[in-house]
Amino acid sequence: MSNISFTGQTVVVTGAGNGLGRSYALDFARRGANVVVNDLGTSVAGVGASQSAADKVVAEIRAAGGSAVASYASVASSAGADSIIRTAVDTFGRVDAVINNAGIIRASAFENVPDEDLDILLDVHLKGSLYVSRAAYRVMLGQGYGRIVNTSSAGGMFGDDTMACYGAAKAGILGLTNSIALAGKPHGILCNAVGPQAATRMGDNIDPETAEKFKALQVLFVNSMSPDFNVPLVVYLASRECQTTHSFYTVCGGRFARAFIGLTAGWEGPLDVPPTAEDVQAHFAQIEDRSRYTIPDSVAGELMERVGALSSRQQR
Ligand code: NAD
Repeated sequence: MSNISFTGQTVVVTGAGNGLGRSYALDFARRGANVVVNDLGTSVAGVGASQSAADKVVAEIRAAGGSAVASYASVASSAGADSIIRTAVDTFGRVDAVINNAGIIRASAFENVPDEDLDILLDVHLKGSLYVSRAAYRVMLGQGYGRIVNTSSAGGMFGDDTMACYGAAKAGILGLTNSIALAGKPHGILCNAVGPQAATRMGDNIDPETAEKFKALQVLFVNSMSPDFNVPLVVYLASRECQTTHSFYTVCGGRFARAFIGLTAGWEGPLDVPPTAEDVQAHFAQIEDRSRYTIPDSVAGELMERVGALSSRQQR
């Protein structure tokens, strides 16, 4: 096991003016990175803007002897994202890692979801992660090296009854991560996603009932809901030491784990004539059975799995 150092590296952290992003930025700087502290300085719901959030974290890093520059652009526009990466290149000459962390939250009963919430949540989370990653990826291609860490959420992977737009955006980030990972691997660019859990100001905007439940759980979780407990995973995934890609990891109450989408062994239906709905009903337990599964590594991965299974069936 080596010491993970970022000396000579440039790390861009979006949404680094508060909560999780701030904690990531401070640790990267402590480990020697030049840090681009990007933050729009907006509210939890994405209203308003201020330079003070990014400025405060930059001052904190510099006061501790670290190197950082502020960026106040919104990740939610292509031009804003380009300017964040330009700040990194103009100031420090390269971009080694990007942590797409900027985010907002809005919750509502599904039947009342406002169109406007869908737009802003997709813009900030999904489009923002794509825009910033794309701008960084162009630089990383030239370097033959890069690490991208996207921020998804349990709300995207597993769902939440009051967060349809947030969940849709966060699930989209998993698809984005998988595609960037496949494109980037031959070029030394690795891309993973994290699903953090932390008591930040974001929790203030969830419904009061869930907020109460969270408060009660804090007795069990001791300090592990602090943003700092999410830092080690993100720092490792952003480092040279990390060789994994195309994966999603969660942190929750002191546990670090991989979450994945798998395919059950399933039911082998007929190939000559389509089965009926009744056939599907009859084999549903087999379709559902999670005792045997695979994790395809791409669209081609699933197809090749079938090619393998069907060839061996034909040879029998
Ligand atoms: P936070 O509100 O404390 O920090 C988010 C920061 O992002 C803010 O400083 C905000 O100004 C900034 N931001 C928002 N929109 C922006 C934009 N368009 N451009 C640039 N900056 C912008 O929230 P947090 O809890 O630290 O969340 C960080 C990330 O982690 C978010 O993506 C969030 O969805 C995700 N997340 C958090 C939790 C959790 O438990 N806190 C759980 C799952 C996922």
